[in-house]
Amino acid sequence: MSRIRLLPETVASQVAAGEVVERPASVVKELVENSIDAGAHKIDILIQRGGISLIRVIDDGSGMDRDDALLSLERHATSKIRTASDLEAIATLGFRGEALPSIASVSRFRLTTREHEAVAGSEIIVNAGKIDIVREGGEAPGTQVEVRSLFYNLPARRKFLRSENTESRNIEHQIHLQAIGHPHTAFTFVRDDRLVFQLPVAASLNDRVRDLYGNELPERLLEVIGGADKIDIGGLIGRAGVSRQARDQQLTFVNGRAIESALLNAALREGYHTALMKGQYPITFLFLNIDPTSVDVNVHPAKREVRFRDPNGVREVIVRSIQQTLESGRETWQEQFRAPTIPSAEISRGPIVDPSASLRPSLTLRAPASVPETSHRELPISGRTASVPSEMSSIEMGRDRARPSILTSPEMLKAPAAQQFQIIGVLNKLYVLMENADGLVLVDQHAAHERILFEELRRRMEEQGVPTQRLLIPQTFELPPRDTDWIERNMSILQKMGIGIESFGPNTFKIDSLPAFLNASDPVHFMQRVIDDLKSSSASSSPMRLGEEMIAKTVCRHAVKANDPLRYLEIEKLIQDLLACDLPYCCPHGRPTMIQISNTELEKKFGRKI
Ligand code: ADP
Ligand code: MG
Repeated sequence: MSRIRLLPETVASQVAAGEVVERPASVVKELVENSIDAGAHKIDILIQRGGISLIRVIDDGSGMDRDDALLSLERHATSKIRTASDLEAIATLGFRGEALPSIASVSRFRLTTREHEAVAGSEIIVNAGKIDIVREGGEAPGTQVEVRSLFYNLPARRKFLRSENTESRNIEHQIHLQAIGHPHTAFTFVRDDRLVFQLPVAASLNDRVRDLYGNELPERLLEVIGGADKIDIGGLIGRAGVSRQARDQQLTFVNGRAIESALLNAALREGYHTALMKGQYPITFLFLNIDPTSVDVNVHPAKREVRFRDPNGVREVIVRSIQQTLESGRETWQEQFRAPTIPSAEISRGPIVDPSASLRPSLTLRAPASVPETSHRELPISGRTASVPSEMSSIEMGRDRARPSILTSPEMLKAPAAQQFQIIGVLNKLYVLMENADGLVLVDQHAAHERILFEELRRRMEEQGVPTQRLLIPQTFELPPRDTDWIERNMSILQKMGIGIESFGPNTFKIDSLPAFLNASDPVHFMQRVIDDLKSSSASSSPMRLGEEMIAKTVCRHAVKANDPLRYLEIEKLIQDLLACDLPYCCPHGRPTMIQISNTELEKKFGRKI
């Protein structure tokens, strides 16, 4: 007796659905993608109870005639590709002809659709994959798909659904991806009868980001520059030091398709490198446009992943582009250090609160009111700034070990007239306070010094090699053959990084010096770590990366400690050096070097403005 048989069509569809329709968010993804492929300008999405009880997607796209509408529910029926060779250059979001039949096989499904010039449309009702009703219907031109009771006939799958809240959030994230990926399409999202967002057609990605995430985010983003011959790159990414604890705003698109890719994530991380705090994720809305023949989208059931023909090429272009973009933000950043354009007299015309009354008793202020005559230029220090420290103490600034105090050393008054920035003083022996046109600027002197030192050491490493320090006793160590091979291939890089290493017999090496700035108590252990780190970074990764990594990790020890009092000229030099850095906005660990507190913020806190 034969034991093999063909599965009935409905069972086969359910099997396929298992891959495509993992959860309600996958249904939303497939339906929205269909709407976009149909040229929709406007897509309305409505869900109830996490999409489990209802998902409705309405679009104003092309619509379908009766025959196509019926065909669209057949497996492997698609209008998007015709031949196998079409698979090599896919320009639409869909192409497998699987989504509609799969969804219809695991839900109570209703499709109404009407072409724009047609007098009437069609309505098709499918239950658990079986067509129950086909009739005339369809109101507005376009297509409306309604999916009710998802997985009602597949209890096993239903059991795996998360809470309604979680499923709703997944759906919302999915719509964010689509909305960011297609700014020229309007979206509305209604969840359990509540309007979550309504996004008009946006003129640019920037507008879409603003409509979706609010006015403040775009100010923290930079327009991506760079790219290469065959890889067009664009979008917006967070400035250096701007990051989030989760990856939910780290979005990457390849040819208009939201993609999850370990390769892209690693490239972003490498591009940010010292501009990102450990454990944090960058904010990216990154768009890659590649010749469709150089990328295979037919590798993941939900088309969430792609395969690049030249992964290393893609990686390098992204890394370079991210670095260029982050450095391009420097000018706007430097702007913040320009002294206010309004003459001080203008500002002080406003009502002045008696500073001593508004200040805490713990605050020591050497009021400079009596000093200006001794100076040859208008000084940034005056009674009007006295309200600043009290404001400072009410803002959570992080390391506030010491009580707030503002120290204004006499040297401060000898500032050269050429300087662009106006230093007010130093708070907590850590934060340099400055005034600019927007309000108050705070610079973390420790973070600033770290950045300066880091860039200096890196420059030395690139130019003439890192200063080294001889070990008291040279050490030898043995390695497994593969590590040996690796060291031999990278010997010159290691030497440039200040590691004095040479061959000392089969699989054995001698190490007699290390970079001077390094504080490695166990050189052999240190070498082992270097090998592991470098080996794991991909083959084409810049050899300077590890050097940077080493510097970043050790530079902290040399940087000015918080609470090290600096003299005015030192502070001024610090700020000038910081302004000259490639990536001045954050320390080599990705913490910001500067915070701006705007006049508006101050006014709000003082109740002058609501
Ligand atoms: P695919 O998108 O891979 O082609 P689907 O099962 O998602 O497969 O859709 C099958 C076909 O139905 C599509 O190729 C398209 O022609 C048609 N279709 C689906 N949704 C819509 C829509 N919203 N508007 C117009 N046509 C649609
Ligand atoms: Mg589709």
